Amino acid sequence: MSDQFHDIFVETNCLGQQELLDYLQGKLSPAEQHRVEQHLADCEMCNDALEGLQQITKKEKIPFWLREIKWNLMKKLRLKNHRKRKLKIYVSAILVTAIVLLLVFMVYWVIFEIRRGN
Ligand SMILES: [Zn+2]
Repeated sequence: MSDQFHDIFVETNCLGQQELLDYLQGKLSPAEQHRVEQHLADCEMCNDALEGLQQITKKEKIPFWLREIKWNLMKKLRLKNHRKRKLKIYVSAILVTAIVLLLVFMVYWVIFEIRRGN
């Protein structure tokens, strides 16, 4: 199990999305096509990716979909960051309030102690 997880983080020479698309659309040179086929022969991950791309019939729309997916992801990320920033402001406000309350309490306590001393 640990070996499997270790492999995920190893840098591979796997095929890029564009490369797979070009392969499917027959846009690669014979040499490139050969390299892709050699890689596909022993890479399960790229085979899965290729299979997924093959199932999409309107291949010319894939770049458009990819852009849309990327854009949606960016939107979600931006929203998440915005929420994080808001949370940071709330936490800061609570901390400042706590510190001010503590200072006020300390001042009262010092005054109380001084009066008791007299
Ligand atoms: Zn691969």
